[in-house]
Amino acid sequence: ATARTRRERTAEQITADDRAHVFHPWAAQDLIAPLAVAGAQGSYFWDHDANRYLDFSSGLVFTNLGYQHPAVVAAVQEQAARLATFAPGFAVEARSQAARLIAERTPGELNRILFTNGGAEAVENAVRLARLHTGRHKVLSAYRSYHGATGTAINLTGDPRRWPSDQGTAGAVRFWAPFPYRSPFHSDSAEQECERALQHLDDTLAFEGPSTIAALILETIPGTAGIMVPPAGYLAGVRELCDRHGIVFILDEVMTGFGRTGAWFAADHFGVVPDLLTFAKGVNSGYVPLGGVAISEEIAATFGRRPYPGGLTYSGHPLACAAAVATIEVMSAQDVVGRARRIGAEVIGPGLRALAERHPSVGEVRGLGAFWAVELVRDRASRDPLVPYNATGTAAAPMARFTSACRERGLWPFVHMNRTHVVPPCTVTEAEVKEGLAVLDEALAVTDAYVV
Ligand code: PLP
Repeated sequence: ATARTRRERTAEQITADDRAHVFHPWAAQDLIAPLAVAGAQGSYFWDHDANRYLDFSSGLVFTNLGYQHPAVVAAVQEQAARLATFAPGFAVEARSQAARLIAERTPGELNRILFTNGGAEAVENAVRLARLHTGRHKVLSAYRSYHGATGTAINLTGDPRRWPSDQGTAGAVRFWAPFPYRSPFHSDSAEQECERALQHLDDTLAFEGPSTIAALILETIPGTAGIMVPPAGYLAGVRELCDRHGIVFILDEVMTGFGRTGAWFAADHFGVVPDLLTFAKGVNSGYVPLGGVAISEEIAATFGRRPYPGGLTYSGHPLACAAAVATIEVMSAQDVVGRARRIGAEVIGPGLRALAERHPSVGEVRGLGAFWAVELVRDRASRDPLVPYNATGTAAAPMARFTSACRERGLWPFVHMNRTHVVPPCTVTEAEVKEGLAVLDEALAVTDAYVV
């Protein structure tokens, strides 16, 4: 026992405890120096020496409402005072209200919500629902994707982080989704990319045996893999192929859901309705862990008289659901979705395009809403990525130096492989975006130096 309370510990003590006892995800434990965070508000957080950072990463792309939104904090406090916890299997006000508010916003007839604690568990359950519903086993997923770090989710992921843990999961089949800037199909227009990607998928289905395929999972707009907005018509084409073969279409909206792209769900941009939609992160701005699967009436009916053999102790936790209710109510009342759409179209997009004109290391900028990627290259003509595509890409010198240059100037960037993503809270102001873009302008001089 220690005489000091948790709150009284100094930055040095917090760091010492962290270094001695916290095992950090995705990290070589001896090579990291985690910042001791003292507080956060809106689009900013700060350390114990009052160094303030503008958060262009929204944590891990989850603080859609920014930090410490008073309405969400109050909702969690009120729920804690009223009913801090309760088991699944009961009708609890915060849970049923959150489910209704989510179902009212998801596209189509996705009217039943299975709650989880985060995105990976949502993907696990979506796949299980699809397998039980169809009686089939195979699942198709895309290269250049991320679906989470648990068993099935990491094995469906098309990202180098899968490599060390992939045991060759039975039934996981990967295909190429469209990516005009680095076309796997050697296309030279978005229309051609769409057509060839659909033909490739059609061929893959035919040679895998459509009647053995339970589900096809795609991020509506692949996030971690590079914010690759699919060409018009692609997702509708996938929907048609799934319908033709009785394959469950899962859209993973863990990163893109709840306003991030300037729509409630990215699927809304394409007029496509999946059979299952996974969500997490923005559903409650990440204030309390929450994720889930929005389930079509048809798939839900499979489990009308037959139990669904899956669940989690904390499914629909009251604190997490209360945070979701407050988040969705604030987003609706203040048109946060419209704000994200406008800040992307009017400020972030034009600002990044102006940077691309000045900096030879910028190969492409792409995105929408509060969801943008800046792809860095060694050579604009060849599009040779600034760092190689492998499990240590993000740590490679050019990206590490770029990251430091941003942090020294008070900007916390999201960096993955040869890219920096501009994914601030959906509530970010125009002044804040401009402040961050000015830092990027200086930091890109670091990556320009690597251009051949
Ligand atoms: N799916 C997508 C599209 C994601 O971006 C993520 C996380 O970044 C996940 C699933 C996994 O979510 P979680 O980390 O909450 O398990």
